[in-house]
Amino acid sequence: MKIGIDLGGSHIGIGLVDENGNILEKKEKYFDNYNISEIEKTIEEFISEQVIQMSLAYRIEFIGIAIPGTVSENKIIKAVNLGIENYDLATQLKEVLHIDVKLKNDAKCAALAEQKYGELSQYDNSVFLCIGTGVGSAVFMDGKLLEPKGLPGFEISHTIIQKNGLLCNCGKRGCFETYASIKRFKEKLSKEFNIHSIDGEVIRDFIRKNENNPRLKYLLNNYIEDLSIGISNIINIFEPEAICIGGSFAEYEDILYEPLKQALLKGNLLFNKRNDIIIKYAKLKNDAGIIGATLI
Ligand SMILES: [Zn+2]
Repeated sequence: MKIGIDLGGSHIGIGLVDENGNILEKKEKYFDNYNISEIEKTIEEFISEQVIQMSLAYRIEFIGIAIPGTVSENKIIKAVNLGIENYDLATQLKEVLHIDVKLKNDAKCAALAEQKYGELSQYDNSVFLCIGTGVGSAVFMDGKLLEPKGLPGFEISHTIIQKNGLLCNCGKRGCFETYASIKRFKEKLSKEFNIHSIDGEVIRDFIRKNENNPRLKYLLNNYIEDLSIGISNIINIFEPEAICIGGSFAEYEDILYEPLKQALLKGNLLFNKRNDIIIKYAKLKNDAGIIGATLI
């Protein structure tokens, strides 16, 4: 039995997960004022409740936490959305709970879950992309998650796809993430067409109802073009058997899937030409972080 924790921008999801990746108990909490002490308090409360409920019948092997940011040697180096830098969350929690705590980047956790129980379980060589506000990524080769020894690496989202392009949160210009961010894409559509929301459902409805609008077509094509450049770079380096996309991007599967596939296959982007590309959409959705955190 393990505890998996997914830390989001303003939300924390905690689950008691069994050996087969099933979530037996789950607690979710949303915060207005999100800070590290609130996070620690919520985790401590959940663990105490579980330990009492289970009457210590199960031994909790460890607590795994999916962190939206950079993790190195089990410490948080930087998590902008949590307002944390150089913080040893694992040691802090272990001192209170007396259970081992392991941390890993959230996209890598979601990728591990998808590879073990989801859409990537059939493939040894694959790439996982989490496209939401930012872009997270993970690469599997021979069934193993690739990880450098020191810093986590695989910052595919911060590879530059446009010289002197848009300023990225990381301080560089022209990063893949600034062009692939689904949040940014929605904001652009909302501003351009005076839609008073960037809610996924509202934007999706608008796209469906206005598919022949030339300006909308242009913006969609533009987005797909940027996205396909970034993804083709990944394909050219790793030649994965399949790519799995998670995050809020996956909600637009019916709108973006085919154009993305066609842009990759028909454009002059791939070094090794292919007749087909397997693009999957994440199956485990919001539970991927919790389940993946127990696979660290
Ligand atoms: Zn960047």
